[in-house]
Amino acid sequence: MQEILTPIIEIQEFDMKMIRLMRIKRERQKELKQIEDLRADLHAQVKEKKFEVEELSKQIAVYETRIEEISKRLKELEGRQTQIKKVEEFNALTQEMTSAERERITVEQKVSDLVDRKGIEKELLEKISESLKTSEESSIALEKEIQSSITMINEEGTRLKNGRDALATTADPDTLRIYDRLLRNKKDRVVVPIENRTCSGCHIALTAQHENIVRKGENLVFCEHCSRIHYWEEAEALEGTPVAPKRRRRRAATT
Ligand SMILES: [Zn+2]
Repeated sequence: MQEILTPIIEIQEFDMKMIRLMRIKRERQKELKQIEDLRADLHAQVKEKKFEVEELSKQIAVYETRIEEISKRLKELEGRQTQIKKVEEFNALTQEMTSAERERITVEQKVSDLVDRKGIEKELLEKISESLKTSEESSIALEKEIQSSITMINEEGTRLKNGRDALATTADPDTLRIYDRLLRNKKDRVVVPIENRTCSGCHIALTAQHENIVRKGENLVFCEHCSRIHYWEEAEALEGTPVAPKRRRRRAATT
């Protein structure tokens, strides 16, 4: 294998770990956001219900004032009725009283309806408040667990970054730049061995001529199908490692 690729392959292992780590971090952050969104939604619902209940109370108060006014007016009219001598005046007064009473009944009906509605809304408000409380209580432990796992992920990330930075100083800068660019595009292993005359990155068969150039290891050789950098692994080197690269990669792909 080309000497120049040795540190790059090591760096690549750090980067693969980092990619996996960041994927886990994003998942955990998503979980956290879901919990926060749910709570924000319940808070908004509580606020809205409270407003509705307050509005109903205001309407009820307005109508109740109106009922008081009508009752006062009726008392006045009753008082005047006893002093009236003329029949026409008496009849006019009676008519006025009847219509006032009718209005009072209408307004009282409105108040009764509003009180019923307020009762229903209040019950809903209590239910939402209760589920908000329950969800807040139950999510505290989960949130803490997620927060601490994110802290651990960040620590592990720092360790990986430091290890990678140290390795990067030992790598050939031009090769590292090419590698970095490929990694940014693929977010996967980009320096891969040839296995059974096949690119182990894209699994497309290669020519014998291509394989020979890679075996010579004089230049960087790119896969013509996926642009990955190829290297040659000697058979004895493979036998010596407990996990063959192919198996290792498959497993990595599923995690
Ligand atoms: Zn390829």
